[in-house]
Amino acid sequence: MTAIVSVGGLRKRYGDIEAVAGVTFDVKQGEIFALLGPNGAGKTTTVEILEGLRQADEGTATVAGVDVRKDPSGVKERIGVQLQSSTFPENFLAKEIVELFALFYKRKVDAMALLRAVGLEDRAKQKSEKLSGGQRQRLSIAVAMVNEPQVLFLDEPTTGLDPQARRNLWDLIRAIRRRGTTVFLTTHYLDEAEVLCDRVAIMDAGKIIALDSPRSLIASLLARGFSKPVAQQQANLEDVFLDLTGHELRED
Ligand code: ATP
Repeated sequence: MTAIVSVGGLRKRYGDIEAVAGVTFDVKQGEIFALLGPNGAGKTTTVEILEGLRQADEGTATVAGVDVRKDPSGVKERIGVQLQSSTFPENFLAKEIVELFALFYKRKVDAMALLRAVGLEDRAKQKSEKLSGGQRQRLSIAVAMVNEPQVLFLDEPTTGLDPQARRNLWDLIRAIRRRGTTVFLTTHYLDEAEVLCDRVAIMDAGKIIALDSPRSLIASLLARGFSKPVAQQQANLEDVFLDLTGHELRED
């Protein structure tokens, strides 16, 4: 598979802090890829460089065939970035918000088709501030899809959602990937990365310290002799919760 994001020797310093300290990785076309790491690891700085929002000090970065340092606005035309849903203007209907962002991008869009794709067709005439948290997250993904991006960047997409809404959003992310869009996400939820991602990069102190599929990373940990002190339970509290309250969405 070809690389749609290619990063080589990337560095970014803020005063004494080297936030990104020589990072090299590729994201393959059509995969769901996550950048993981503790607070302050340098994830946001790396992603903002890839989105053309921040200048790197050193190194190379290409996104969808565009050199990010030479042509940041060319990159912005080819990517989708999920905005925090709190940034939506007030008093606009869900459909009007999609249309508004289409205007910004100078795109003709079928707003209803986009809302249908994210499962919000029946909420088209509802004001965005009246939508549930999960619905607002899905609206923000519809907005990020307005310019038919080749790479969709999602920052902590399921923060604050209940278990049903999280799973529903995972299904939506998988559906977006099936349509050919590469998904690049950051998340602090490792269970989310494990079930959703083809490959994950783990970043710490500005460096990538591991990059592989979740399954291979777990297998190599076990091969190093790792074992948990207690046997893994066959179910957890989330399974109890979902068994009792059902898997269907509750936000309608
Ligand atoms: P989090 O998970 O908390 O969002 P992160 O992995 O995204 O963390 P970054 O936000 O990229 O990490 O920050 C990496 C380092 O760079 C941190 O030490 C942070 O304090 C510092 N940093 C980030 N942005 C700036 C800035 N604009 N000016 C100065 N220092 C910054």
